[in-house]
Amino acid sequence: MKKVASLLMALAMTLSLAACGKANGGASGSKAKKVGISMPTKSSQRWIDDGNNMVNEFKKLNYKTDLQYGQDNVQNQISQIENMITKGVNVLVVASIDGSALTDVLEKAHEAKIPVIAYDRLITKSPYVSYYATFDNFKVGVLQATYIEEKLGLDKGKGPFNIELFAGSPDDNNATFFFNGAMSVLQKYIDKGKLVVKSGQTKFSQVATLRWDGATAQARMDNLLSKNYTSAKVDAVLSPYDGISIGIISSLKGVGYGTKGQPMPIITGQDAELPSIKSIIKGEQTSTIFKDTRQLAQKAVEMADDVLNNKKPETNDNKTYNNGVKVVPSFLCNPVVVDKDNYKEVLVDSKYYSESQLAK
Ligand code: BGC
Repeated sequence: MKKVASLLMALAMTLSLAACGKANGGASGSKAKKVGISMPTKSSQRWIDDGNNMVNEFKKLNYKTDLQYGQDNVQNQISQIENMITKGVNVLVVASIDGSALTDVLEKAHEAKIPVIAYDRLITKSPYVSYYATFDNFKVGVLQATYIEEKLGLDKGKGPFNIELFAGSPDDNNATFFFNGAMSVLQKYIDKGKLVVKSGQTKFSQVATLRWDGATAQARMDNLLSKNYTSAKVDAVLSPYDGISIGIISSLKGVGYGTKGQPMPIITGQDAELPSIKSIIKGEQTSTIFKDTRQLAQKAVEMADDVLNNKKPETNDNKTYNNGVKVVPSFLCNPVVVDKDNYKEVLVDSKYYSESQLAK
């Protein structure tokens, strides 16, 4: 009898420990806690996936969620976050449109004692960013540029080659990280004359693309081609994001690239978005950077859950991301280069995409 009682006791303890182990903010009170998830735009599949992945992960822990998209309009995003604060969310997860525009609304979150997790993009100019879940953004740029370096054979002394540079949105902190990472590889070849930027546009301010807009990039590429490449050809284009690569490719096709006699230059990208993987399979875009949004969502959910349960979230970088007011403790996930040779292994084997999605 005694033995049975102690066995039951042990079982009860194990069960309660298991529940603690998987911190479960949503179910700990009588009412499920609520998470406000503020995403930048639905114009790119990655953010739709990020949002849905987080909703699913939060649901597993019994949280309620309020997922909103700002549609690349800064004021929209601010109003959506204000609304979430008024409705009494317990924590906010925010991927900003303009990282420096949320100072006032984060002040309001702070007054309401709502912790804020910056998702993928750092929120700057505010002390009220608790944690930051992202990828190694400098490495993204290094990977994009190293791909160009190796494909052109610059590392083997080949050249000179013509290259044009594109960067992301100047109001997104990531954009400078990507660009600086890329230039840490490319600058030495530009200095030696092994890479020639015929337009002369090599500064971030000259090559940035507001809101990461593909049409803006396409218009700039049209201009670069007509001014500098009527007789010369472009050998490579540093593109920071798949949506921008699509614009660049349209522009190149417009002047006859993409044929046997005039093949596409090397064109990088980022996010491994479906249309771009198809483009890579077709031989138009050359590479992209895969950032597993399932992993990032999981990380952000763990952070939010820990914060709500007074646990210290796991971080792996506590020095890089200074937001102008403080260094935000961060967790950086790992980005991976994808091209024609490894897309099956990286994207299909990991079930990010199915064969049939890529075949359509
Ligand atoms: C993200 C990239 C994305 C870009 C455009 C950046 O902040 O880190 O993954 O390509 O925004 O949406």
